[in-house]
Amino acid sequence: MNLTVIDHPLTRHYLTVLRDKTTDPQQFRAAARGLTYTLVFEATRRLPLHQFDVETPMETTAGFRVENVVAVPVLRAGLGLLDAVLEMIPDVKVGFAGVARDEDTAMPQEYYAKLPDLSEATVLICEPMLATGGSLSWAADKVKSSGATDITALCVVTAPEGVKRMYEDHPDVRIITASHDRELNDNHYIIPGLGDMGDRLFGTF
Ligand code: URA
Repeated sequence: MNLTVIDHPLTRHYLTVLRDKTTDPQQFRAAARGLTYTLVFEATRRLPLHQFDVETPMETTAGFRVENVVAVPVLRAGLGLLDAVLEMIPDVKVGFAGVARDEDTAMPQEYYAKLPDLSEATVLICEPMLATGGSLSWAADKVKSSGATDITALCVVTAPEGVKRMYEDHPDVRIITASHDRELNDNHYIIPGLGDMGDRLFGTF
């Protein structure tokens, strides 16, 4: 399985704040940002580097630069991870993938997509809740059709059903998560999960 669960103490702390039903939207957004920093460290561990000479005040030495990373938040909950990605990754570009979940069938319905050419890019798809896997599988299709070959998904919580679906549809896509949770309920919500990520980020209960 292409799944990495981050067990760093800060990850677990922020995840607990996100899970807590008394956390208000402002605290929730701050915790999502803190948790995302820890996901990004793992997701970028093997980023290709451009090497060049840098002049220190003392002499010339080897320098390194991160290049060509594209973040693709899956709207709307993926926006909750975007600020941390923008802060951490130099010159990151951003594409957008808008997909709504049909509440009855849980099937993904595309409503917006705007992606740059991704053929040379390291792509970070921001999809916080990997539930059935329908939206992430759709987003992976979408970035691949723009040329992406190096794809990592940043998730806050995953469910076994979604990870299995990704393994079947896109075994090449790496998944980084703060927790691999137990199951989905009948409404396709992750259990224990944290509820509706978009609603909790944006206060739309
Ligand atoms: N989307 C969410 O926001 N929460 C879930 O539990 C599943 C999908």
